[in-house]
Amino acid sequence: MKNLLDRFCRYVRIDTTAVENAGTYPSSPGQLELGRMLVEELRAIGLSDTVQDEHGLVLATLPATVAHPVPTIAWIAHLDTSPETTGRNVQPIVHENYDGRDLVLPGDPSKVIRTCENPELLLLKGKTLVTTDGTTLLGADDKAGVAVIMEAAAQLMARPELPHGPIRICFTCDEEIGHGVDYLDLQKLGAAVGYTLDGGGQGEIDYETFSADLAVVTIRGVAIHPAIAKGRMINAVRLAGLFLERLPRLSLSPETTAERQGFLHPYRLDGGVAEATLRILLRDFDTPRLADYAELLRTVARTILAEYPQASIEVHITPQYRNMAEGLAKEPRALAFAQEAMRRAGLEPKLTIVRGGTDGSRLTELGLPTPNLSCGEHNLHSPLEWTCVEEMAAAVRVLVELAQVWAELSG
Ligand SMILES: [Zn+2]
Repeated sequence: MKNLLDRFCRYVRIDTTAVENAGTYPSSPGQLELGRMLVEELRAIGLSDTVQDEHGLVLATLPATVAHPVPTIAWIAHLDTSPETTGRNVQPIVHENYDGRDLVLPGDPSKVIRTCENPELLLLKGKTLVTTDGTTLLGADDKAGVAVIMEAAAQLMARPELPHGPIRICFTCDEEIGHGVDYLDLQKLGAAVGYTLDGGGQGEIDYETFSADLAVVTIRGVAIHPAIAKGRMINAVRLAGLFLERLPRLSLSPETTAERQGFLHPYRLDGGVAEATLRILLRDFDTPRLADYAELLRTVARTILAEYPQASIEVHITPQYRNMAEGLAKEPRALAFAQEAMRRAGLEPKLTIVRGGTDGSRLTELGLPTPNLSCGEHNLHSPLEWTCVEEMAAAVRVLVELAQVWAELSG
């Protein structure tokens, strides 16, 4: 626990905030700095093939301790933190023997982690929590995952009598801005199954994600000086308003759906009289429904064009990622062994769905089945972010068991 907490506090103090549109990869130098620190620590623990590649990704191998062939598994976490809240000058505050009350953050007393908004806190009385001082995020997303992987690797290296196959360790960059796996070469990773450590609480396995497409609707009108516009102007701004008005609002929107329901989410509008663009996220667990949503957009476009034949409306769809369950079905051991490892670690595994995507959705689609495991994250991307050291320690136990379950049951 002490080692794990020390690691976590060391890693969160390095500012690895991802920066949108930075024009570099990784998008911030702190990610390289943390990567360098981890390379040194991995080498000190005794891992082999430890490298920080030209893109800042850190890769290392925990060698097998058994002679029989065991599929290589990968443990994956991301080095960057969300740009939504600053990660500069993070001051982790350790609350030992948590008393079950609201936590007032001293750097900004208006920031209070309330038990009424975080009911899971009530189950953690007496445990060790870590928060910020209220002025930054904590970065448990995903430095909890990084610390858990590092600690599990250290424990396995220190106990060579535990039987396990080869394990690849992989730390990625810029996950929070959608570029976590841009430069991850699966050939080089060389794993049969991956596990991202980037989940909330403990004992959960995210095994389904949304399938996702992006729709870009380009509306072209007819621009002309308003003085002489009568009967001639077609205003793309007004048509964009009309378009939005004709989308479902009381259903199929993020504001009105939960659990397994999908949605269309217009999240950006740009333009002027001559041309306007709407960007709309299409999301559903059931991939074929995305085509229905695209058809709905085309139907709306057609009805508007029937009224304004001089305008033009294009609906362009780009696939983003696919529900992880589709790829996991091809390698059922990925989930079954994670569930078994959790039981052996004393947890009751819970299969959960994510109303979003993970690096694992993309990796699974590319052929590396990669469910996501809990590692003690709470209130992500916020100054109210917190973690629980005992939950992180449980994730370490899960990884140590998982390594052994693969060696024992994969034959
Ligand atoms: Zn994350």
